[in-house]
Amino acid sequence: MTAADTPINILLVDDLEENLLALEALLQRDGLACLKARSGEDALELLLVHDVALALLDVQMPGMDGFQLAEFMRGAERSRHIPIVFLTAGSADIQRRFRGYEAGAVDFIQKPIETDILKSKASVFIDLYQQRLQILTQRDELAAYADELRAVDRRKNEFLAVLGHELRNPVMALGAGLHLLTKRAADPEMALEIRAQMDRQVVHLSRIVDDLLDISRIDQGKIELRKERIALQTVLQFAVEASRPQIDAHRHLFTADILAAPASLDADPTRVAQVVSNLLNNAAKYTPAGGQIRLAARVRGGFAEIDVSDNGIGIPDEMRSKIFELFAQVKNPATRAQDGLGIGLALVKQLVELHGGTISLECSAPNQGSTFRVRLPIVGEARA
Ligand code: ADP
Repeated sequence: MTAADTPINILLVDDLEENLLALEALLQRDGLACLKARSGEDALELLLVHDVALALLDVQMPGMDGFQLAEFMRGAERSRHIPIVFLTAGSADIQRRFRGYEAGAVDFIQKPIETDILKSKASVFIDLYQQRLQILTQRDELAAYADELRAVDRRKNEFLAVLGHELRNPVMALGAGLHLLTKRAADPEMALEIRAQMDRQVVHLSRIVDDLLDISRIDQGKIELRKERIALQTVLQFAVEASRPQIDAHRHLFTADILAAPASLDADPTRVAQVVSNLLNNAAKYTPAGGQIRLAARVRGGFAEIDVSDNGIGIPDEMRSKIFELFAQVKNPATRAQDGLGIGLALVKQLVELHGGTISLECSAPNQGSTFRVRLPIVGEARA
């Protein structure tokens, strides 16, 4: 494909050097390059390596004449579609026009050449060539776009399958709970336990539905941040409280190393806590039981830097650039048993960015663990 700034080539073929120079002088303009050949053989050689928008062929040449050259051009895939204008002198040529058309001529120009006619004909073919290039570029763009859409569609279908699976588990558990409650209504202790289990399933279901709604709200630019001046320490505390059950359920050792000096954010406390809690939940989820999870926070360069680290399964190299994409999940049968939809980190990233912050996977190694870093702009004295 010719780039926009690559000159467009015109092939000029004439056995007389002075004719070639005269043609070149007539056609010369920005963005055009004239490839000059003194014989049919030279022309064919040039055509092997150059794309050409138009060929101007002198008919009468010693050796291979213009018509023979045209026949060769029509015979080769690369040069078959190049428009040809024959330059003819004298009546003998005119009688041979028919042969010219058979060889695929597009046009004839009578010698002596009229400058305006030559220029206007050449510009028609150059325009056509440019349009063809444009169409080819658009075709390639459309093909790439279609590939992208197919990939997105595939991911969406995979996501729907995972979503179905994720929704089925709590729904089945709720169904079983209801069934047991009906059958064992008389046993109050058992009923209490069943209700507690059903409660957990409802919380889990609500979380899935909330995440899905959040993603679609962000997608439509409809998410509303309820910003207020808040202490970073307070939000981190909320997050830890929210994730405690997950961390404890896996018997992880949790440590927090939170900055001593107060730092304030202009942020939506619920959303920031959601971000950190999501990272803590992932750390708990993707770390084998009895692991270590650490939350660290510090202030650096006008930003609060919040690190969530674990010593869990880690993220494979090839997935590192993708995990913040919607529906991205590491395809690993060992971890697939974990619940999840692959939307958590995409949501976290968007929430962080809505706050003018960034999120990154600072480091991760298989079976060594991962560290995610969130940076959020701070306000107030600590900023200095
Ligand atoms: P999910 O709902 O699948 O947990 P996320 O968007 O939260 O979705 O995470 C995307 C993927 O990134 C996960 O499926 C998992 O493979 C990987 N991942 C996220 N956090 C961690 C972590 N702390 N350790 C290892 N892998 C992780």
